[in-house]
Amino acid sequence: IYILAIESSCDETAAAVVKNGREVLSNIISSQIELHKLYGGVVPEIASRKHIEKINPVIREALAEAGMKLGDMDAIGVTYGPGLVGALLVGVAAAKAISYAKNIPLVGVHHIEGHISANYIENKDLEPPFLGMVVSGGHTHLVMVEDYGKYEILGKTRDDAAGEAFDKVARAIGLGYPGGPKIDKLAKEGNPRAIAFPRAHVADAPLDFSFSGLKSSVLNYINSCEMKHQKICRADVAASFQAAVVDAIVSHTILAAKTYHIDKVALAGGVASNSALRQAMKEKCEAAGLKFYYPSPILCTDNAAMIGCAAYYEYLAGTRHGLDLNAVPNLKIGQR
Ligand code: ATP
Ligand code: MG
Ligand code: FE
Repeated sequence: IYILAIESSCDETAAAVVKNGREVLSNIISSQIELHKLYGGVVPEIASRKHIEKINPVIREALAEAGMKLGDMDAIGVTYGPGLVGALLVGVAAAKAISYAKNIPLVGVHHIEGHISANYIENKDLEPPFLGMVVSGGHTHLVMVEDYGKYEILGKTRDDAAGEAFDKVARAIGLGYPGGPKIDKLAKEGNPRAIAFPRAHVADAPLDFSFSGLKSSVLNYINSCEMKHQKICRADVAASFQAAVVDAIVSHTILAAKTYHIDKVALAGGVASNSALRQAMKEKCEAAGLKFYYPSPILCTDNAAMIGCAAYYEYLAGTRHGLDLNAVPNLKIGQR
């Protein structure tokens, strides 16, 4: 089964050809980061316009690199939510046009289910059930993957997502957008125990997260240093903030695995690239007797290969979408 997958939910225009769900024949990503950097974050209207410009060339390149034609495809997989509505619509419209013109089945995919599925690509032995820890720009979700396409949310953030917190703190210490990778790098030169920032626990909901208190605490620290004319060690702030985020994510994951008696854990989403998070998860999972999976950085960021993988299992389960498929900006995990 060959699937052409398309992703355009945020600021990456991406297309991929995936064979039998787990073999990536091509994975083309056109990122708009350089464009949005000027504004300190993603500007939805600019993102939509850039997607329109890039979508056809990116699809053509994905097919060329795989050495295949549209007619060779068994299905078209496309992200239809969640994300920016104008951005999603570009991918959905392209997928529907191809589906109609070539009479190829259309399979709509949930972006976060795609992020989780990225783990299948390099770990051929990974099968449900397992615990998914999604840490991305807009989501911080602990998800039980009961079966292919079958998900249950065990915990999530009450306010900011992990990636959002990284980006906001990075802006506060003048690192620019996107902040995650920059904090990751700077933190390597700092002391993670220099400043005791609060951990993101929520009373009476042990598997939920809250990062807004942590973010405020970092901002307060910076302000009070400035008022006292104390020099701020940005590397220490980065390292201490990162340690607080990593601590919360790792401890929640281990707690969920123990509570639900599951011995496999998979990290997913853009923040899954974070080196301190990967390291801490590896150590803590090993100590707890859990098997730990994580995707390569290129499969953590927004990409279409992960969408092709998720689309494959949806295709096998019989999911087909019609030409009335619409973009759903607030699509829920598990919704069809
Ligand atoms: P969502 O997937 O929730 O819809 P998104 O698609 O915008 O949101 P992703 O592309 O999955 O998010 O991830 C982007 C986020 O990951 C950004 O917030 C970015 O700062 C963060 N990020 C990327 N690399 C790192 C890193 N090494 N350390 C920490 N954060 C990182
Ligand atoms: Mg992005
Ligand atoms: Fe994403």
